[in-house]
Amino acid sequence: MKIIKTLVAALAVGFAAMTVTAHADDKGLVGVLMPTKTSQRWINDGDAVKSQLEALGYTVDLQYAQDDIPNQLSQLENEITKGPKALIIASIDGTTMADALQKSADAGVVVVAYDRLIKKTGNVDYYTTFDNFGVGVIQAKSLLKGLGYPEKKGPFNIELFGGSPDDNNAFFFYNGAMSVLQPLIDDKTLVVKSGQMGMDKVGTLRWLAATAQARMDNLLSANYSDGSRVDGVLSPYDGLSRGIIASLRAVGYGTADQPWPVVTGQDAETASVKAIIAGEQYSTVFKDTRELAKATVELVDKVLSGGKPDGLDTKTYNNDVKVVPSILLTPHDVDKSNYQALVVDSGYIKADELK
Ligand code: BGC
Repeated sequence: MKIIKTLVAALAVGFAAMTVTAHADDKGLVGVLMPTKTSQRWINDGDAVKSQLEALGYTVDLQYAQDDIPNQLSQLENEITKGPKALIIASIDGTTMADALQKSADAGVVVVAYDRLIKKTGNVDYYTTFDNFGVGVIQAKSLLKGLGYPEKKGPFNIELFGGSPDDNNAFFFYNGAMSVLQPLIDDKTLVVKSGQMGMDKVGTLRWLAATAQARMDNLLSANYSDGSRVDGVLSPYDGLSRGIIASLRAVGYGTADQPWPVVTGQDAETASVKAIIAGEQYSTVFKDTRELAKATVELVDKVLSGGKPDGLDTKTYNNDVKVVPSILLTPHDVDKSNYQALVVDSGYIKADELK
């Protein structure tokens, strides 16, 4: 009996020690809110942020909201009640979080807007993202490269697509692209046959592929049924590009007689890198989500450890209440010529997945 008692006591001490060790490593809870699992990039982002935070000793609560604004808001409210040290939020609608974030500010939670700016509140501490204007510039330059400009002089028929108007990034992408394209539209090198320009006309609510596909169907039947062809399509995101390509395929593009127009994209999603290899999509913009996760996790860890982050951009992202100090990473142009080096050799997509 005595032996058993001693054993039990020894075990109890052991467990207590284990609990203490686990506790010492536990740096507290971080809530991570992502918009949707329908796009591969957000799955990559969520996984990368979670695993990197956990490696540093944080407990992570990762939530996806299936692109539903009320759903994300209730996830946020709920998360705040769990007492997190920090919140990392990729918003669906960047303008709807002010009330909830007042509560998180009252509780002293560090808030980081992840990839998408959170607007209309002073209670967002940092913003980590890519150079979003630069993304648009890359897309436009790639469109021109695919068209063969300036060796080929045009005129080229193009159509324009924008992202979701409730996502601040969509305007940066569009404005970046138009900074390159507008002068060539003005001098008639580029012709937007539909005449549809401006985010109010070309935006794609919630970044939905089906919406882009339906709009492309309409553009083609209304403007290109006279035997003329569309030579290029500015698309801001791979999911939309795939919808646009489906629409083009349905009216006979993608054959020797009617080759694919130049279609741009963003995110280097596996399905779209495959489409690039197959010659259906011309290019994408690669934003390494592992790097974004790393920059965000480092920032959060530094702030929670009492440090001050450096190298912040303090000019670009005004959220209507304040300029949110930002980390801006570099996006990369990817097409058939360099996808192997940038996307595969870096381990972002495994070669097998592209077969
Ligand atoms: C992101 C893009 C993404 C888009 C659609 C934007 O906010 O910056 O990378 O393609 O949302 O998910």
